[in-house]
Amino acid sequence: MPQPYRVTSVDPADCHHALQAGLEILKGVGLVRAAQLVGRGLATIEDLLYHLPFRYEDRRDVSAIAEVGAGESGSLVGRLTSLRAGRLRGGRRRILTAVLTDDTGSLELVWFNPPRYIADALRVGQRLAVYGRIAPERGARLSLPHPEFEILDEESERRPEVRPVYEKPGDVSQANLRGWAAQALERFGGFLPSFLPSELAERQGLMDLNQAMEVIHRPDSAMAPDALEKARTTARRSLAFDEFFYFQLALALRHRQRRDTPGFSSPARPGSLTARMRELLPYRLTGGQERVLREIYRDMESPNPMRRLLQGDVGSGKTVLAWLSALRAMENGRQALLLAPTELLAEQHYERLRPYAERLRIRSVFLSGSLPAAVRKEITERIGDGEVDFVVGTHALIQEGVSAPRMGLGIVDEQHRFGVSQRSAFARLSLRDEAAGGGAGEPDLLLMSATPIPRSLAMVLSGDLEVSLLDEAPPGRTPVRTVVVQEGQRQRVYERVRSAVADGRQAYLVYPLVEESQKMPMAAAESMARELSRTVMRGLRLGLVHGQMPTAERDQVMRRFRQGEIQVLVATTVIEVGIDVPGATLMVVEHAERFGLAQLHQLRGRVGRGRDESHCVLIHYGSRDDDSRRRLEVLEQAADGFEVAEADLRLRGAGEVLGTRQAGFQGFRVAHLVYDSEMLQAARQEAHDWLARNPSLRGKVSRRVREELRYRWGEAMQLGTWAD
Ligand code: ADP
Ligand code: MG
Repeated sequence: MPQPYRVTSVDPADCHHALQAGLEILKGVGLVRAAQLVGRGLATIEDLLYHLPFRYEDRRDVSAIAEVGAGESGSLVGRLTSLRAGRLRGGRRRILTAVLTDDTGSLELVWFNPPRYIADALRVGQRLAVYGRIAPERGARLSLPHPEFEILDEESERRPEVRPVYEKPGDVSQANLRGWAAQALERFGGFLPSFLPSELAERQGLMDLNQAMEVIHRPDSAMAPDALEKARTTARRSLAFDEFFYFQLALALRHRQRRDTPGFSSPARPGSLTARMRELLPYRLTGGQERVLREIYRDMESPNPMRRLLQGDVGSGKTVLAWLSALRAMENGRQALLLAPTELLAEQHYERLRPYAERLRIRSVFLSGSLPAAVRKEITERIGDGEVDFVVGTHALIQEGVSAPRMGLGIVDEQHRFGVSQRSAFARLSLRDEAAGGGAGEPDLLLMSATPIPRSLAMVLSGDLEVSLLDEAPPGRTPVRTVVVQEGQRQRVYERVRSAVADGRQAYLVYPLVEESQKMPMAAAESMARELSRTVMRGLRLGLVHGQMPTAERDQVMRRFRQGEIQVLVATTVIEVGIDVPGATLMVVEHAERFGLAQLHQLRGRVGRGRDESHCVLIHYGSRDDDSRRRLEVLEQAADGFEVAEADLRLRGAGEVLGTRQAGFQGFRVAHLVYDSEMLQAARQEAHDWLARNPSLRGKVSRRVREELRYRWGEAMQLGTWAD
């Protein structure tokens, strides 16, 4: 019977402190073991409690030995009728065999190189409960390798139980994990921070965290299977809801903070830069681009700082929107800065936009770490003096002490390549030099990303960022034709590369790093390139980029490829997102099964940038009817990045799709952004309602919620100012 939600009575600070205890505090965990566990991500009591079982074994359902078949798993109870220790032929491996017999038959238990304690514990005549999976092949008699077992002594009332099964952090037994979790609950369960307002918990049917952890780590073997299952569902939901609630509350607060921050209003100015730019554009904006631009302009007109995420597939035409936004800031007398993750991308943006800047008489500069120090200094000064209107740059913008006193708009390209703190440092460039008149307000921020996040996830972000989706390609683009081929057809693929080059085109050849080469990727990549140029690619001008190359060198190779000097680019690293080489029409990916779909979609976005039809060939290693091949075939059909992202999400889960760098997503240990999306909505509603009723976050309940919030999200979300 679920009990009502009990709000933890201990002070939040004491709870956090207690749960941060190292695992050596548990009996049976020594310092050495504890240190090993830290290496496996289990450093504290809290980590241990949140290390949830991934399944349960219901050992209460005991089978008769005669009933179980080869390859099946189950729980058996019998008596040991024989026990023999020996060595395998060759003598190096020890083997322990035992025979377990019940009323219906017998079966062999086998251990190879068993730890001492097993042989020491077992005696012929003992009653034993065993659990495991019977070997798939049938010898003279069924055999059960490495069973888990429990000695049932005659008088004890011990019965087979329901047991949690954990992912093992290294060389630790399930029994140890279960024991430690139980100990942790005994001693620390009362510190689990159940601080949700109790009427909310009741409305949502939640358990407090202590109870939920009990249900999860110590299933009650007196309960019926379906009652257990139901309790577990509620327990898991309670843990996840707890995570979502604080997350949504943090987002809501951040939203509120921003609403209260002064920014700039950049209204439309007739006859000005934006209007003139539109006349210079060689094409018309698509309906989608117009819509997004209206969304951006609406934010820019508002007196509060914009925080808008622009999601659009590779080649969907984000750059022109960034530029038209920058012009809106400039025509209002402010500076616009564009930050790109690599030198090459920054350079490309700058080169593309410079002709327009010149026509419009805009003073623009480029700043990157590779410029000579004296030049950097001079540019930095000109930005600081407000002599420059438009700046394109790399990380150097945030690192070199740049201050942009008139900064009205910051644009971040490939925003997920930057951390939260880098993005916010960028937004604060105008505040660096208050004496020079900066600091009057926070600039607008436009974050761009070509890694399409499925709509369901984009919704989550909208708690803090507004999201614009650009989901149609500009007209006149021929979609890239994608085919999956088997490894056996590689020679034919190489022929295609040669004939593309013969026609004056260029090609990419992408290799994943194979396991054995990971240790020395450089040597492996270089020897592979040499091998290729001696054999199938002989006579072609090959270039090589790999992950260990210094950036400057890699950029140099990319530049030569862009200029057509290199015909085939061999890459063992994922090629820069956003690189634009119109002459490249063929993308070949070796071992495509090792890449995620979204990654492959990014890769094929490198071609199809010119007028000629482009192709992407995915070479699959494995058999034709492997799941991995079917997964790749998704790309033959789906041309749109959002479609691919949805498929990828279904196949791989959110963590992978978002990447760990997506700010604000590291915090969930239980909740799942996709599968729990309904709960997420509910948590969002609750968080908003609660904040509306408790705007000052004062009072006893509020104080606890606030403490908890600060503990969980204060730093990641930079919720500094609201907490007293
Ligand atoms: P993204 O930055 O989203 O990857 P780009 O801004 O680089 O995409 O745009 C890709 C190409 O499409 C560029 O060459 C750009 O000039 C062109 N383009 C953008 N918008 C349009 C449009 N409305 N019509 C035709 N071409 C466009
Ligand atoms: Mg781009």
